Amino acid sequence: MDPYQTLEQLRQLLDSKQITAEELCRYFLDRMAQFDQQTNSFVSVEPEQVLAEARSADKNIDRGINGQLTGIPVAHKDNFCVRGQRTSCCSNLLSTFIAPYDATIVKNISKDGGIYFGKTNMDEFAMGTSNQTSTWGPVRNPWDLSRVPGGSSGGSAAAVAAGFVPVATGSDTGGSIRQPASFCGVTGFKPTYGRLSRYGMIAFASSLDQAGTLTRTAQDAATMFQIMQGHDPRDATSESSSNNKSVSVKHPLTIGYSASLFNDLDSDIVARIEASRKTLEQLGHKFEDVEVFDQDLALSSYYIISCAEASSNLARFDGIRYGSRTKSAASIQELYEDTRSQGFGDEVKRRLLAGTYFLSNNSPENYVQKAQKLRRMVYDLYQELFQNVDVVLAPSAPSTAFRLDEQLDSTDMYRQDRFTVPVNLCGLPAISVPCGLVNELPIGVQFIGPQYGDELILDLADRFQKETSWHLQRPKL
Ligand code: GLN
Repeated sequence: MDPYQTLEQLRQLLDSKQITAEELCRYFLDRMAQFDQQTNSFVSVEPEQVLAEARSADKNIDRGINGQLTGIPVAHKDNFCVRGQRTSCCSNLLSTFIAPYDATIVKNISKDGGIYFGKTNMDEFAMGTSNQTSTWGPVRNPWDLSRVPGGSSGGSAAAVAAGFVPVATGSDTGGSIRQPASFCGVTGFKPTYGRLSRYGMIAFASSLDQAGTLTRTAQDAATMFQIMQGHDPRDATSESSSNNKSVSVKHPLTIGYSASLFNDLDSDIVARIEASRKTLEQLGHKFEDVEVFDQDLALSSYYIISCAEASSNLARFDGIRYGSRTKSAASIQELYEDTRSQGFGDEVKRRLLAGTYFLSNNSPENYVQKAQKLRRMVYDLYQELFQNVDVVLAPSAPSTAFRLDEQLDSTDMYRQDRFTVPVNLCGLPAISVPCGLVNELPIGVQFIGPQYGDELILDLADRFQKETSWHLQRPKL
């Protein structure tokens, strides 16, 4: 059995009875048990429950009741609520929290027959770029165990790259699907804001958070997207389905390209992206030079807004309703203080302190208002850009996976996100697809679409993958 099969291939194996869902799930469970001590990509898996679900999927297959995912295991990032399962956001504070309900996308996947396989490791509360801030320990990149998988959906990216599951969910607030996808050589899709429900996805920065997927191929991402979407009355920002504004898929496209993005990148990475451009040109697409927004200004806007929203969202974790509570507090004030100082890790504390300051009246600069103005400028610039081009091509990340012991300081770590955060500030869809290896490590290229251009970039990525084989490369585990 080959662990690197697409959803379509697995569907075919199951429907033609070459394998049962139980055998398939047992195979992935065994593979995970054998290799995941090395990568630490999963934080909770209950094999007996997976197999029980698989047996009931087999009955459904026998009866011909078939979703596209019936019998196929799907992993969820640990910030998606799964009923009855620990949902910890990889934080000590939520290490005992059992979700009382399913997130909408979790429900949509299981309604289609997908088997809940387990929870993947992540940066604490999805704040990070390296998956080193998890309370359950860092994830290691299957391509090189001394390196990070990227973050914050590093567990999901590593799990798909290592062939433990065919697909996994992720969340992307400022690049957390696309950057780990680039580091791990998988396909990472972040849809338009509002197209997938945020209900039951534990909030980091609500105006930026978006669910999405890590998969082997763009075609798999498209299948998952179709299954996961749909208007959700429980999420006020969920797109109404009666109002389908999808940009129509067309070919060939005019693709925007900004040479200024590549100035400080390693020449081997630039060469891989240039080669992708050639491939796209051979497919008939036209390139046009465009000017994109100053990446560092966009980054400042992102970090101010995301920290401010996080400080408000995470105020609910005070030891009263969710997760762990300090044992020895003498007053309510002490209970809050002790629970939060013992429960949150350093990176989360850093952001909550910064966010609270940005929001306070004592902040003379009025950071948040300035950040919102910048955000609007980025948005306007992209709106204008998409008058002339269909899609923008950009790097997914400025480097390949760095080493765990490299100890980037906070600013260097934050600058890792400079190619991804503008997309979240504008609510746009984007996909990262593997475009080569540099020193035997994968690197991705990003296609950014206009709002509701999800199907357009999925189609472009699919055509790109039909011409290239980078997404088929595998790490040696
Ligand atoms: N790396 C970014 C951050 O640390 C993005 C996180 C995310 O997308 N969840 O904020």
